[in-house]
Amino acid sequence: MIKKKEIHIIGAGIAGLTIGCYLQMNGFNTQIFESHSIAGGLCTAWKRKGYTFDGCIHSTIASGDRYKLNKWFGEIINFDTIKYHFYNELSLIQFEDGKTFHFYTNPDKLENELIALAPEDETFIKKMIQSIKVFAKHDLQMSKPIELWSPLDYYLRQFITLPYISHLSKWSKSLKETISKCKSPLLRSVLNQDFFTRYPFYFFLISLGQMNNNSVGYPIGGSLQFANTIEETYKNCGGTIHYNSKVEKIIVNNHRASGIVLEDGKKMENADYVISAADGFETIYSMLDGKYIDKKITQRYESHSKWPSVVLVSLGVNRSFATEPSLVDIRLNSEFIIDEQTKTDTLPVTIYNFDSTLAPEGKTCIRVIFHTHNYKYWDDLKKNNPVLYTKEKNRIAENCIEILDKRLGNIKNYVEVIDVATPATFKRYTKNWNGSIQGWEWMSGLIPEHFKNNLKGLQNFYMTGQWTMPGGGIAGAFLNARDLARIICKKNRVAFKGRR
Ligand SMILES: Cc1cc2nc3c(=O)[nH]c(=O)nc-3n(C[C@H](O)[C@H](O)[C@H](O)COP(=O)(O)OP(=O)(O)OC[C@H]3O[C@@H](n4cnc5c(N)ncnc54)[C@H](O)[C@@H]3O)c2cc1C
Repeated sequence: MIKKKEIHIIGAGIAGLTIGCYLQMNGFNTQIFESHSIAGGLCTAWKRKGYTFDGCIHSTIASGDRYKLNKWFGEIINFDTIKYHFYNELSLIQFEDGKTFHFYTNPDKLENELIALAPEDETFIKKMIQSIKVFAKHDLQMSKPIELWSPLDYYLRQFITLPYISHLSKWSKSLKETISKCKSPLLRSVLNQDFFTRYPFYFFLISLGQMNNNSVGYPIGGSLQFANTIEETYKNCGGTIHYNSKVEKIIVNNHRASGIVLEDGKKMENADYVISAADGFETIYSMLDGKYIDKKITQRYESHSKWPSVVLVSLGVNRSFATEPSLVDIRLNSEFIIDEQTKTDTLPVTIYNFDSTLAPEGKTCIRVIFHTHNYKYWDDLKKNNPVLYTKEKNRIAENCIEILDKRLGNIKNYVEVIDVATPATFKRYTKNWNGSIQGWEWMSGLIPEHFKNNLKGLQNFYMTGQWTMPGGGIAGAFLNARDLARIICKKNRVAFKGRR
């Protein structure tokens, strides 16, 4: 019998679990080493006094066969066991003067709302809606990773993109730049979606199209349960996860990765491959001591823009919100201070009235999420001034509660649990650089950048996950890991299969 190749995987986030599943399905022997006591990485949730506070998914890949990604995800996740909530509205935008705007995901309804709001921008709105509809039909995903493309695939790529190329190029500038051309300040205000600001505008339009055709949604049960279903697949495929096993170093002999050293000094040797699905900075500069960097890597880690981290306020409220909207963007006339560099005029609120599994009967979880690039402030505060750290968390939570009470009504007296996670929390539990929630930002432009999964000069080593691609996200981490499994299969002359 031929001995199966041994693969050590660092990290049991979505990428680590995914590549583990596919490599097990294809005849490799894998072990995952995870520093935390649970799987999921950033795709997580935590329990507080009967409430489950979700730390991640707003929306992600759902079942379906419209797009390849949905079909592929079904290879590692049992969609029969997951129910999805699909959003009819991206959000209900509520202005300080009481006016509201329904940001529908249905393009026809959205068109009517937008034209009523900003008739002077009718031409822009109509073009935008037309592109949402065109994008919704498209599946630009190639069936192979670019590393395995033949000349025919390059030709095919042009053929596939042809019907959409004019729409892609029309909207290839960032959301911020695109909407600055709108005449109506109200239209600029409602299109000013914080999450998408620096991405190419087409990314926002594609996302709206996918939300409307139910290809992405929120998995009932929340993020941790979602990650646990992939963990279950991995274990059912014969994989092993070592929890509370932080990897300190990657063992390298003659420029070949051959194992790992854990925090407690334990060595795991004789691996045929080592794959890091953990934080990129820690992998390259600490686990490998910065020995395998080149100009591209240095430039990327010095200057490529990264996704911010978040301050995430979760409330357990002893009240039902059955008739309230689920996603509300509360717009403020005054600024809400997050930290010494970060302020906002929007409170993005999720009222989890669509997932009864997260709270005891008659009660509801509410979440407010604020982006911040100021990791250093939160990290310093936590380390050097824990009293002020707690005070600042309380200040933000109390301000949120005040505003929610005033704008949504009758909340203050019903709040029974308050939880505030900061960039320091995300770093502590997932080790992500500066607590970043999605790794590298996707820059505006027509063609997304492509990052390599390996490091120059180091054999038998790969990286996967949100730090080996622009954009990040669960779909990104999944696809990057699936692609890498295909590359490893090809290298080992194994015909890739996506099933057990
Ligand atoms: C608040 C928030 C909201 C989000 N919303 C969405 C959303 O709606 N949709 C979406 O698609 N994405 C969303 N994301 C992003 C998404 O969660 C991530 O991009 C994705 O989960 C990244 O997966 P990953 O496996 O690449 O990395 P990670 O999840 O970071 O996994 C890395 C794993 O490696 C482990 N690790 C790190 N260092 C070591 C070490 N030295 N030794 C051993 N183990 C180690 C970590 O503990 C972790 O488990 C959100 C993220 C956050 C925080």
